[in-house]
Amino acid sequence: MDERCRVHLYQVFSHSGPLAGNNRRLRHCPQCGARFAERVLARFERQRCERCAAVHHLNPAPGITMLVRSAAGEILIGRRRATARYGNRWCLPGGYIEYEESFIDTARREVREETGLEVRIDGIVNVVSNHLDDCHHTLVIVLLGEMVAGSPEPGDDLTALKWIDRHAHAGIDYAFEADRRIIDGYFAGGLQMLPIDARIEQR
Ligand SMILES: [Zn+2]
Repeated sequence: MDERCRVHLYQVFSHSGPLAGNNRRLRHCPQCGARFAERVLARFERQRCERCAAVHHLNPAPGITMLVRSAAGEILIGRRRATARYGNRWCLPGGYIEYEESFIDTARREVREETGLEVRIDGIVNVVSNHLDDCHHTLVIVLLGEMVAGSPEPGDDLTALKWIDRHAHAGIDYAFEADRRIIDGYFAGGLQMLPIDARIEQR
């Protein structure tokens, strides 16, 4: 690996307040149905049922983001549907990991749904904690892979796709600062990558 152009990607966003935003709070205990008391929670404090002592834990939601590379080294980005959060701006393909999936399954599915492409996944670029706001904390595995089949066709929440090189990247209005930093890192060259060990996880 070329030591001169090693890049370190940190997309840890400082969060803006207590993590227990209003829409992460429950009205009733999921164990016994008792009504939860409405009160302000301190940081790291959790809703606890006064009847059965069940605790409503809060955890980040795991997801994947995918750097899909063309044979020429370009990266595929998509424009978000106008009515989506951060609509009409551009992002990398990705999404939340469903309960039944491995993160590799998720990457393949999200890329297929959002871009119509089949990809070979080459490795893990980074794992990042994104505190987007009080109600959205995601743990995102950033993967790099290459298109192996299909032709780009926007789907799901994306309305357009385009391949970008480093020059086009500079002028893109990204929905997420994290995506900009990931693509910055990719085009800087020498991206450090953790291979996915086939003994542990099938690619
Ligand atoms: Zn309870």
